[in-house]
Order: sequence, then structure tokens, then C-alpha cells
Amino acid sequence: MASITSRAAVLTQFNHPLELMELDVAAPRSDEIRVRLVATGICHTDIAMISGELPAGLPAVLGHEGAGVVEAVGSDVSTHAAGDHVVLSYAHCGHCENCSDGYPGYCDEFLSRNFECCRPDGSSAYCGPTPVKSHFFGQSSFAGHVVCSPRNAVKVSKDIPLDLACPLGCGIMTGAGTVMNAQKVRPGSSVAVFGAGAVGLSSVMAAKVCGATQITAVDLHAQRLDLAKELGATDVHQSTGTDTDRGALSAIAPRGFDYIVDTTGNMALIKAAMGHLGKRGHFALISAAPGVELELQANPILMAGQTIQGVIEGESVPSVFIPKLIELYRLGQFPIDKLVTYFPFEKINLAIDASMDGSAVKPVLRF
Ligand SMILES: [Zn+2]
Ligand SMILES: [Zn+2]
Repeated sequence: MASITSRAAVLTQFNHPLELMELDVAAPRSDEIRVRLVATGICHTDIAMISGELPAGLPAVLGHEGAGVVEAVGSDVSTHAAGDHVVLSYAHCGHCENCSDGYPGYCDEFLSRNFECCRPDGSSAYCGPTPVKSHFFGQSSFAGHVVCSPRNAVKVSKDIPLDLACPLGCGIMTGAGTVMNAQKVRPGSSVAVFGAGAVGLSSVMAAKVCGATQITAVDLHAQRLDLAKELGATDVHQSTGTDTDRGALSAIAPRGFDYIVDTTGNMALIKAAMGHLGKRGHFALISAAPGVELELQANPILMAGQTIQGVIEGESVPSVFIPKLIELYRLGQFPIDKLVTYFPFEKINLAIDASMDGSAVKPVLRF
């Protein structure tokens, strides 16, 4: 098989706009597939990489919510065929203890396979005037074509629009999976979600699906709280950013919430939010920058039998969970279309700005 050329948005300098350029895309190896992308979401982890918060060699192609059509498969691949529609998700090794146990988000090789921007052997699939790093989250989807492992390409039915399904690969799966897979929210319970971006709003939708009867969304922006109400929040609270307005949240849930999901990664807010967790309550921590410390008093947690759990990628097995979310969308119970704002791929820098200023909840780029 020969290599092809494809248009990509390349990070050449931290804190600078991505540069559009034609790259050489290597032919898939015997255990890989090549996917022609139809769309890709933009996730906050992409933006963190652009701002240099996370270490990666440059130049690199980011993007990790791609969806498209399989164009070519390596000779050893039997699970996928040309023409399959796929949603790309995070990379995992498939054979370590946690992968084997159904928890690929805690794969022994999670960090290296998702953040080092290369294949496990250190090689790249992209080349421009100089070599360009590929395989961010096993995909690097800010490009018209990607080469990836079939393990992180989830086959989906051809009647679901790929430009709607793409963010299921990370952000939406993370928010929904935290509530459904990690917390296993019980019918009739109370849930508070801090941060009403794409991840938090997905948690709100999932809490409703699980039958929670009190769902509270907390955010800085009134328009996001309006959307949260539309998606199932029974109560909303407009936060000031660092405190949680103890009185207002206590009025909503005087005995504390059964479940809290924090999507903000703001440690002061997390500390305050812990004060609103009920007895035997479960607190899911799904965002935290490296090196940040969280200070909490241990005794109240002990006396209340509370659980604080870190959750990666919604504890989802993508090949199982993504089709389930698609089914819920079809039934009208998981309206992801309300989160999405579309941009042409060439407007990627505009879409990133719209994500950062909050004007787009989930920007999706169409190729
Ligand atoms: Zn593994
Ligand atoms: Zn992500």
C-alpha cells in the first residue's frame, strides 16, 4: 500500500494558532487501519496541549474525537473492513491487567499511548517538510486521514451521522460514563454536576437517563445553565467561580447530594463542593492538572462513609458504551445534537477560540 497526502492542522508552537498544511500519511501497517475522517470534535485536552500544559514534542497533530470511514486495512486486521463507519476513541494496549479486566481507561500504557504523540515503537504516521508527530490519543484527528489501531476504532451503524457521533469518543463518553459506569447513579437519587460544558452536560443527560430525580447543574454562565435545564437539570446554580454559595446549594439539597461530578478541576471549588456531598455520597473527580494538590479534612469523609473516586474516560469500554449512547440518542433520551456547533475544518482556530470563550459547548469540525 502506498502513502497518501492529506490536509492537517499542525501545532508548530505552543500558544499559537494551528497551521494548515499537506502531510504525507503513511500506509497502514499490517495491524493498522486508515480512516478518512468526516468530522472531529475539539476537547479541552486538545486545548491544554496547545497551551503547553501537557508535554509533547512538536510539530504534532492533535485531535482525539475523530469519526470517519475506513479506507484501507492492514493484512492482519480481520475486525474492520473498508467502508466501515467508525468513531475513534482513546488508545489502550488491550492486554494488560486492567485492559483484560474491562477497564482500558486504566491501561498500564494509557499515558504513553495517548499523550506521547507516536506509535508504541516511537514512530509517526505523518510527515510534512519535517517529521510531524501523530497518534495523539492513538489517532491525531485534526487531519483528513488518520492511521490507527483497530482497537480504538469503534464500528457504528451507518445511519448515525458521523459529525454527531464523533464527540462520543472522548468528552461526551467521559461525562455520561462517569455517571452511568463509575457512579452507577440510582433511580430517585440526587446528583450535582459542577461545570456545564460538554462533559458536565453529558453527565446531566446521563443522570436523567439513570432516573435521578434531583439534578443540579452549577456553572459560571447563565446560558449554559439554561441548556442544562433543557437537558434534564431540575435545579441550577450560577456560581461565582471559587465558592459554591453554600446557602443556595444547601437549600437545594439540605442533606447533601448523593452524587457529585466535578468537571472543572478547580481545587478550591472541589473543596467547597465536598461540603455538599451527603452521607455515603460519591464524588467523581474527572479533571485535574498534573501537580495540583487537593486538601481535604479526612475525618468528615470517614464519618460520612463518603467515596472520592478519580474517573478516566467515564470508565467506558468504548466499543460497548458508544453504541449504547447512540441507541439512547435514537430514543430521544440523550440529545447530543443540542451540544454541537459546526465549523468547517479550515476554521479550526476559530472553533478553538469559540470553545475557549464558551460560545460553543462542543465545536465539531467537518472535513
Ligand atoms: Zn492495557
Ligand atoms: Zn478528550
